[in-house]
Amino acid sequence: MGMGTGLELIDFEQILQSTSNGIRIIDKDFNVLKINKAYSDLFGVDEYESIGKKCYEVLGSSLCYTSDCPLEVILNGEKYAQYEMQIETINGGNINYISNVKPLYGPDGKLIGIIEDIKDITEIKRITDEIKIRDSILTSSINAIAVADLDGRITYVNSSFIDMWQCSIKEAMSRPITDFWQMGNNPADALSFLFKRGKWVSEGVINRKDGSLLNVQILASMVIDETDTPICIVTSFVDITELKRVKESKLRAQTALAIAKANTDTIKSIMDAVVIAIAITDLDGMIVRFNKGFSETFGLNLQTQGRNLTEFITEEDIPKVLNAIKKCIEDGHASNIECSAISENKGKIIVIIDFTLMKDSRGATTGIIAVIRDITEQKRSEETRERLSFELMNKNKELEQMIRIVSHDLRSPLVNIQGFSNELNISCKQIQDIIRENTTESLAEKLMPIINDDIPEILEYIMLSVSKIDSLLSGLLRISRLGRASLNIDEIDMDKLISNVIGTFEFQIKQYQIDLTVDKLPNCVGDESQINQVFSNLINNAIKYRDPNKNAVIHISGYENDGKVIYFVEDNGIGISPEHQEKIFDLFYRLDPKSTQGEGLGLNIVRKILDRHNGKVWVESEYGKGSKFYVSLPKTKKEILLDV
Ligand code: ADP
Repeated sequence: MGMGTGLELIDFEQILQSTSNGIRIIDKDFNVLKINKAYSDLFGVDEYESIGKKCYEVLGSSLCYTSDCPLEVILNGEKYAQYEMQIETINGGNINYISNVKPLYGPDGKLIGIIEDIKDITEIKRITDEIKIRDSILTSSINAIAVADLDGRITYVNSSFIDMWQCSIKEAMSRPITDFWQMGNNPADALSFLFKRGKWVSEGVINRKDGSLLNVQILASMVIDETDTPICIVTSFVDITELKRVKESKLRAQTALAIAKANTDTIKSIMDAVVIAIAITDLDGMIVRFNKGFSETFGLNLQTQGRNLTEFITEEDIPKVLNAIKKCIEDGHASNIECSAISENKGKIIVIIDFTLMKDSRGATTGIIAVIRDITEQKRSEETRERLSFELMNKNKELEQMIRIVSHDLRSPLVNIQGFSNELNISCKQIQDIIRENTTESLAEKLMPIINDDIPEILEYIMLSVSKIDSLLSGLLRISRLGRASLNIDEIDMDKLISNVIGTFEFQIKQYQIDLTVDKLPNCVGDESQINQVFSNLINNAIKYRDPNKNAVIHISGYENDGKVIYFVEDNGIGISPEHQEKIFDLFYRLDPKSTQGEGLGLNIVRKILDRHNGKVWVESEYGKGSKFYVSLPKTKKEILLDV
């Protein structure tokens, strides 16, 4: 030991005092030999007061007087003892410490006592406890939690996280936290937002390995210390699948409700928009709902609700309605139920009811829709029309009968007049002879002019008038026959028909050098001989009423229009002034009887024929320029009303 290490010069006391651990030395008899400053600071005991006292008197612990007493343990031959302890200090605080206990030997190698090295772990303990608590909270939390450092490296995940993401802890730890944030988010944006605001919230869907989908809410927050320095990032994932489902179903229910409400509103406004009366009843006919049309038809207010539909039906028709409701329930509908009903403002009305069974989307019966049409007015005008047309038919019959009687019966007296006029003529001649032979010159002179001139002249007038009446009567007869003749309806080749008609006028056309042209014509349907008569009359008139000062031009053409065929006969004749244009179709109507021959029957016959064919005739004309007679005829058989 010649060259000392210098350690022997070092003051043992100084070492003892400078260590931050608390040091206590106790002899074999529990006497405190030494405590250092750190010890007295830690436990708040005075060094000088403690020395020489028994250790259990200075600062007892739960180990005192037990076999675990460290001194006892060392005295029993152990070389080392350690215990962790919490004690209450003199000034009331709790201190956690770890004590490392070792035997202390004297220079002679004999055991003096023990030396205790005490480390204050109060703060560490507090932190680890806290961590433990937090950890247990984290682990037990149903929310998945991941903790990551500021670089995004995952340092901790709880079991819920593992369950949620269906991965191992190792796998989770190997990935950056931002991997778990994706779900449609940009992780870089999320991270910068998090650093700026300290919090970032989002929602997303996890596509799990087992194929299931989880809706999660992600909440990432920055953990900071007291000086606002970021420490780590904690992300929690909350499974909101169920919440979302509930929310959605709630929303769906709300939407369905809204739609249903909108539907009812719509149905109501649709119902009200129609003028037809609509009532919705239950299966017994009790009205649960009705529209404006209904209250208007029956002159009612809202009181209608809760009344039975049959209350609006006249007693005799109630069975009809009840039967219809029964049929509707069985077959789904019952239509065209005509019955009389009672309206509060209109009295007795006639209605047609259509019943339809109402079903919901699942096919369950929900009621009956009764659509009610008030046909009172219609019925009334139908009745009037029926009555009028019946009257008209009778009048027509009467008229035809009259025409027949007149034209037929008037003929025999006319024949008599004719016959007796002839007789008179003969008698006149006889008188002439007698006078010539027997009378005096002077008497003969007086009688002869009367007998020779006056009487024959008068007789001639009588005869003329008689033949005139005769031709009128035969015209009337023709018309009355026309009304009764049966129609033989068929398709007519109009090109052929017109060329036939023109053939009959060949002589006049040549004689008057008429320029007559015919276009290609569409066909129509009708009674051929009667249609022949129509065009014969029109062409005849076009020739007859030509303008003598012009070259007569006649043009015949036709076209189809709106399912009908229209023909026209156009001339450049004398024309008809507007005031006569309607009347020329009347019976016996003639504009200028003296200048031309005729009976005023032709156009009337034309109109009569067209009436029976459900056709029409009309004229466009300008006086002095010409006339254009139009004829419209049906294209198909079914358009002809045969019974007119
Ligand atoms: P009618 O020819 O025997 O007189 P209608 O009934 O055929 O009898 O004609 C009635 C009247 O209509 C004729 O008297 C004539 O004044 C006028 N009328 C008919 N067709 C024409 C025509 N194409 N141009 C000018 N007037 C016409």
